[in-house]
Amino acid sequence: MIKGQKSVRGGIEDFLCPFANMYITQGSMQKTGTHRGIYANDVRGAQKGVKEAYYAPCTVKCVKTYPDYGQAMWQSTGKVRFANGRVDYATFMTVHDDTFDAKVGMVVPQGNQLGNMGTKGKATGVHCHIEVSQSADTSWTKNQYGIYHFNNEYDLDDCYFVDNTNILYGMGGSWKTTDKVPVNENPQPSGSGKNYVNLPPTVNSWAWYNIDASPVKKNAQGTLNPQKFGGLSYYVHEYRDNGTTAVIKGASGNMIKIYIKDTPAEITIDSYKYGLVN
Ligand SMILES: [Zn+2]
Repeated sequence: MIKGQKSVRGGIEDFLCPFANMYITQGSMQKTGTHRGIYANDVRGAQKGVKEAYYAPCTVKCVKTYPDYGQAMWQSTGKVRFANGRVDYATFMTVHDDTFDAKVGMVVPQGNQLGNMGTKGKATGVHCHIEVSQSADTSWTKNQYGIYHFNNEYDLDDCYFVDNTNILYGMGGSWKTTDKVPVNENPQPSGSGKNYVNLPPTVNSWAWYNIDASPVKKNAQGTLNPQKFGGLSYYVHEYRDNGTTAVIKGASGNMIKIYIKDTPAEITIDSYKYGLVN
């Protein structure tokens, strides 16, 4: 991520990679050394020895500090979305910041500076040590090798989205950007604006259902043809089936339902893209 970056989808913050440049100098689950048996990464920036800033991956509160190590434990102020698709609290540790000014209770909004890479504590070379728990559990205990860690730690490529992170050395991790974990935002029609569903002209057959029927093939009552009309837009009266369908008014004035999840259908607020049917 870069300074000031935010990512919120469906009302939930995406947990972003706190680094603008990421060069991993020590990966997770090493056989020896300070990452033995733990999911932690040591990360330096573009240049060796330069104390690059890192940013709040989500809106966080400082819950513990260990100033001698330039170390702070942070927790998300709400549930966040991780790169493996899980939605839960994030509790994470950052270490080695020698410009350390974190205080317990301070809240840092997503995208604001959280600290700087450094050498405070037992650090070889300027870096940030980071490890992430996908839970609200703040337990910080030693494993069988005497290395401190969280419960519910996940490897970092399962934790953060790397949108705008320049990965210089990712140690072969399967790093994901937010577009790899799509979210069906399905805003409910409300005072915040009128919802429209837009069916693009690339599709020539879009099944519709009776509003109380399960939206499966055998229940299809007919099809709409967006292609024939250069795309079709409808006002959304409500969403059903856990947000996977939209209730619209059909051409003959009856209420019908169409399936919209993981389809080319696009929801817009207060404006529509194609000819409005109803
Ligand atoms: Zn480390």
